[in-house]
Amino acid sequence: MSKKKHHNIDSALNVQKGIEQPSQINPKLTSEIGRFKKENLLPDIIFHGIITGDRTLLSRGITLIESDLPEDMPASRDLIQRCLPYSGSSVRIGISGVPGVGKSTFIETFGMNLIAEGKKVAVLAIDPSSKRTKGSILGDKTRMEILSINPHAFIRPSASKGTLGGVARATREALILCEAAGFNIIMVETVGVGQSETEVSHLVDFFLLLMLAGGGDELQGIKRGIMEMADLVVINKADGDNIKRAELAASIYKNALHLFPALPNGWAPEVLTASAIKNKGIKEVWEKTREFLSLTKNNGFFENNRREQAVMVFNDTIEENLRTSFYGKPEIKKLIKEYKNQIYKGEINPYEVAQLLLDRYFKEEGY
Ligand code: GDP
Repeated sequence: MSKKKHHNIDSALNVQKGIEQPSQINPKLTSEIGRFKKENLLPDIIFHGIITGDRTLLSRGITLIESDLPEDMPASRDLIQRCLPYSGSSVRIGISGVPGVGKSTFIETFGMNLIAEGKKVAVLAIDPSSKRTKGSILGDKTRMEILSINPHAFIRPSASKGTLGGVARATREALILCEAAGFNIIMVETVGVGQSETEVSHLVDFFLLLMLAGGGDELQGIKRGIMEMADLVVINKADGDNIKRAELAASIYKNALHLFPALPNGWAPEVLTASAIKNKGIKEVWEKTREFLSLTKNNGFFENNRREQAVMVFNDTIEENLRTSFYGKPEIKKLIKEYKNQIYKGEINPYEVAQLLLDRYFKEEGY
């Protein structure tokens, strides 16, 4: 499983060296770009903006890849293809926790600490509720105020429309664009309510779960599925009167984690306490992350994980493109509507017409 073997493949698997990123946007380029309309912003211009660290063009690039307009598809695919060789070299961290646990405060403190170490930090968010609320996870202007204005940070709310799978795909591609723009720590944030965590765990190298000390009912609060995904659990808000309770919660969670089967990558998930507001325990979170990275990079599981993720990308892309292509055909759409009616009335056999439609589709496609 040597890296060499895959060196020439344009894939997110390859840890490419990338290029030196100037931290400043070329002002000339930006003003030039300002004269273009969105539709004229060819992938070429966006691509060059991205690899020269232009955050405005990075944003435009992400808007392009989030677009579900068929006419944007070729440009979107082109942009991703070009960025891929420059991607793969960041540390991708998933951060999850219920609303109010302190995710944005934590990400801000954690991110600022990393920037102080010379890192460039991007934050992407997946918010399954944004479709319903028409808001966005980062819509609240007060979130990450300090981090968001730092020139070494880039914060991007989730695409606010589409299915969770679609949002996850857009996030995965946004991640590629951010890496091409030279961001070397990428945090993917989710609201810890279930399904989005599974999606995120397929995008990241390390999964961090933020939790709170409850009133002695910690074990009840453990969502087993989510806990099992966590490489590190952090009991947040361990400050003031809450320190003792946080420590107690940490020991309960530690015991609970021991009951889970050992991970094949050799890592034993850990529990720490932290206070994002007081910047306490945050350094330790980064130390643990680095420990994890060094273990899994040495034993091959880091790369293994990325390879498995690449296979998932392959599967997802086929499925998504097939679905879009199939349901995007007006005559198929029309027939589906008619058939559904007839099936409902018991006039036709669902298996038969489903096959009929598929046959028709593949025939039209030349198969
Ligand atoms: P999110 O919804 O998970 O993003 O949570 P926020 O970061 O918005 O924080 C929710 C609330 O918890 C805010 O009022 C924060 O000020 C508070 N909070 C966040 N981190 C801490 C912490 O470390 N200690 C304490 N005491 N409060 C915190």
